[in-house]
Amino acid sequence: MVRVARVLPESIAEELGIEPGTELVSVNGRELHDFLDWEFLTADDELVVEAREPNGDEVVYEVSRPEGEPLGITLEPPNVRRCANRCEFCFIEGLPTGLRRNLYIRDDDYRLSFTYGNFATLSNVKERDIARILEYRLSPLYVSVHATNWEARKVLLNNPRVPNIVDQLRRLADGGIRFHCQMVIVPGLNDGAVLEESLSDLWNLGDAVLSAAVVPVGITQFSHLYTGRAMDAATAGALLDHVAKWSDRALRERGENWVYGSDELYLLAERELPSAEHYGDFSQIENGIGAVASLRERVAAGLDELPRMDGRRIGVVTGKAMAILMPELLDQLRESSGADFQLIVAESSLFGPTITTAGLLVGADIERALANRHDLDIALIPAETINEDGIFLDDVDFEKLRAALPMPVFPSYDFIDILAAEPEAVAA
Ligand code: SF4
Repeated sequence: MVRVARVLPESIAEELGIEPGTELVSVNGRELHDFLDWEFLTADDELVVEAREPNGDEVVYEVSRPEGEPLGITLEPPNVRRCANRCEFCFIEGLPTGLRRNLYIRDDDYRLSFTYGNFATLSNVKERDIARILEYRLSPLYVSVHATNWEARKVLLNNPRVPNIVDQLRRLADGGIRFHCQMVIVPGLNDGAVLEESLSDLWNLGDAVLSAAVVPVGITQFSHLYTGRAMDAATAGALLDHVAKWSDRALRERGENWVYGSDELYLLAERELPSAEHYGDFSQIENGIGAVASLRERVAAGLDELPRMDGRRIGVVTGKAMAILMPELLDQLRESSGADFQLIVAESSLFGPTITTAGLLVGADIERALANRHDLDIALIPAETINEDGIFLDDVDFEKLRAALPMPVFPSYDFIDILAAEPEAVAA
């Protein structure tokens, strides 16, 4: 059963008299368990929907709709499948206390993997889930592999009952499912020979593995479970050597790359980041794979669109990780616009000095960085720091913070999105 949250005006559902709170029980005789069933079973245009109205009355809707016209129903959010593992490196275990409750949810849900690109370990997937993945062709899935070696994976996920991931992937691959995989590397546990085995096993799955990312473990000052080693420059360099070896082989034998090191690895190892061509369609950019290359590309492509802003003083807030790469970008922006860009490097007060990603700065960090900068005309902050409701991770409201700061502040993904697209706001 799934429940209706909203009915869109002038939709088929409104015409049928469906109300919020109605429970949808089955479609064409197939029982509904969740939003996926609803989405896939209502793909037909001739539907018989069994439902229970909010007053408890049972009702059957017979729908014959013009091809492809949406029914106009939004469902209540699904119950997220919780994670059965207890990884020492779990980022959620490394969160400070006192944040919004939903930030502590350890989801491990293949449905969200397909729908939103969330990584899932598949360790809580049952036979009926495999059948659904195959029937509904939930592809591609984003899979946290970490290690294909079964014993190593049990240790990494801290769960002796995890299924064999190679068997799972092979079975799904045989049914036409494709994967984007990641290996979060804990030095001493799944680097070296274990990583080599993982990459070899994934390579042997052929074109079912669309991409494989090698990502360093991210430990905050609150990661109380973690007993492993921290990632260092030498380990990061060694990981990139594995990546380069498999990347070269892929280019040689398949004509395209499939394995990537995260940007953070290159920064840690102090190696030059690859150019945009290396990343193909940037399939794991949300995972920090190719974000720098993409940013460089977007800035270069947008320079011609910049208005002249001679003499304007523009503050650019970022985290420590990006600080080393910023001057090159800000020089290009300065040359094309005439504005004076000033780099402001902020540290995450919430996660501690080991977390240097700009996207994990919080409202308090932005306030500390900008509150006394009366010398700036405007400031740009990383847009990734606020969610779709305009709230930072520390619950600070962006609009309230903005009103309290001495200059207009703009969340920006790549500078061009603000400087070229909103020239009046910037010039005001
Ligand atoms: S799989 Fe591991 S890292 Fe992911 S949510 Fe579960 S415990 Fe955390």
